Amino acid sequence: MTDNRNDDLDFREVTDDEAVDIENRDTDSGSKETNGGSDADRKNTSGEGKGGDEQPQFEDVCFVCRRPESKAGKMFHLPNNICICNDCMHRTMDAVSQFDYQNMLNNPGLLNELNKNMGSFPGLGFMKMDDLGKGGMNNGGGIPNSQKIKKKSESSTKPVFDIRNIPAPHKIKAKLDEYVIGQNKAKKVMSVAVYNHYKRVATDTMDEIEIEKSNILLLGPTGSGKTYLVKTLARLLDVPLAIADATSLTEAGYIGDDIESVVSKLLAAAGNDVEKTEHGIIFIDEIDKIAKKKNTTSRDVSGESVQQGMLKLLEGSNVEVPVGAGSKNAMVPLATVNTKNILFICGGAFPDLEEIITQRLNKQTSIGFDADLKDKYEDDPNILSNVTIEDLKKFGMIPEFLGRLPIICTLTALTKQMLVQILKEPKNAILKQYQKLLALDEVDLRFDDSALEAIADKAMEKETGARALRAIIEEFMLDIMYEIPKDENIGRVTITRDYIEGKASPLIEIRGEAVAPRLPQLDKDKDTEA
Ligand code: ADP
Repeated sequence: MTDNRNDDLDFREVTDDEAVDIENRDTDSGSKETNGGSDADRKNTSGEGKGGDEQPQFEDVCFVCRRPESKAGKMFHLPNNICICNDCMHRTMDAVSQFDYQNMLNNPGLLNELNKNMGSFPGLGFMKMDDLGKGGMNNGGGIPNSQKIKKKSESSTKPVFDIRNIPAPHKIKAKLDEYVIGQNKAKKVMSVAVYNHYKRVATDTMDEIEIEKSNILLLGPTGSGKTYLVKTLARLLDVPLAIADATSLTEAGYIGDDIESVVSKLLAAAGNDVEKTEHGIIFIDEIDKIAKKKNTTSRDVSGESVQQGMLKLLEGSNVEVPVGAGSKNAMVPLATVNTKNILFICGGAFPDLEEIITQRLNKQTSIGFDADLKDKYEDDPNILSNVTIEDLKKFGMIPEFLGRLPIICTLTALTKQMLVQILKEPKNAILKQYQKLLALDEVDLRFDDSALEAIADKAMEKETGARALRAIIEEFMLDIMYEIPKDENIGRVTITRDYIEGKASPLIEIRGEAVAPRLPQLDKDKDTEA
């Protein structure tokens, strides 16, 4: 049987490399070779292992039936990185044996006729070997990397996260402090949760005491840093992160994104590496938008059904996701991802929840001699921190869903002082970015404290948290970034409160002089605008 296969391949003008490969495969099945030897050979012929042993490998996908090696079995490697599975190779060979192939290659008419006869094998046809390189059967010229599945290394027993390498919670928080202003409680909760999660992942085989998964629910007003906190955390831990929006999710079969598409996103973020994906973080924003719809008579495909659909995902299950594409179809290989060790963080602003909490608190405190003032909680910006599971249920989240998000963490609304800090303190603060840009022109950019307060004041008015800061700064920095490079003599620019409020120009200092004249061009602009 094996001999036949060799004969068939010889018939297709096998190259030297291939011959070595086929030989190795045959001896491998004869099981005298050591495993290590045959793996190394495969690496050489698959063209993926060029980067050395430590590089993860892609799994081969059959060029004809698109099944990965894990499903279709060992592949035959043809030139141009084309792999064909055993089944497809045999079918082809059976068909070939009925024809005078050499004659056919010289006769394009015969080739077409033969292809017509291949109807029983969808997607399978005869081609010249040259065509494979140019575009091949699927016009792909071999299979692009984005559609290949990275192999799971079956033999590796070493955990991805060595427990000693997981930074202790206080270290995680200290790092977060460098980027995220305020939100101390949230940072603490997240640090501990993430630490426990990855400790659990690292010690996968716990005896009878199994540590439960600790998915997180983040509540906080818009622009308070929910996404930013998760992004920073994922970067610090060097794990892949997928950010999905719950608003676009719908029950399978309806218009919108499948719930499983969030895992697909994570797979893409992990470079199609299944093993990395299984230790990643999925952040699902706007989770409040999948609350149970009230007073609806039609099927709630984007609310309660999505929560139901997410249950299995949150708890841990095997999900088949398309590789390198947004949706499943016949031409895309599927990868199986286990979500058991994926950390799910759901975030939302839960706007109407405030009312529910206020009502409950008011009810509690308005009876008896200790009755509080009725509007005590009305204007509390951090009312969300009093949230209970009951409130969330009332809001429309189903108990099963909440049960799978055991850690609830609230972020506070940003105060004016925090906004000022966000402007200048984080490692990549907006002001530092502008200062760096102007420093490249050897101009020293400074901001008065009063100017920062003015910016924070404006941002507070917009009620979109720290999100508003960037828009405000970009608006008034436009003139500066336009005018300053015009004059090489300018050595320093100081932004003042008056400039932010549109009452004056920024203070300009010429190189070598201590005077601070106005910038004439800017004055002119202001006048014309007025
Ligand atoms: P949301 O809570 O709506 O998800 P984001 O996390 O997207 O808000 O915040 C928007 C931007 O505001 C972030 O990109 C970040 O630059 C800034 N930001 C928000 N909160 C903070 C914070 N606490 N510390 C530093 N920057 C913050």
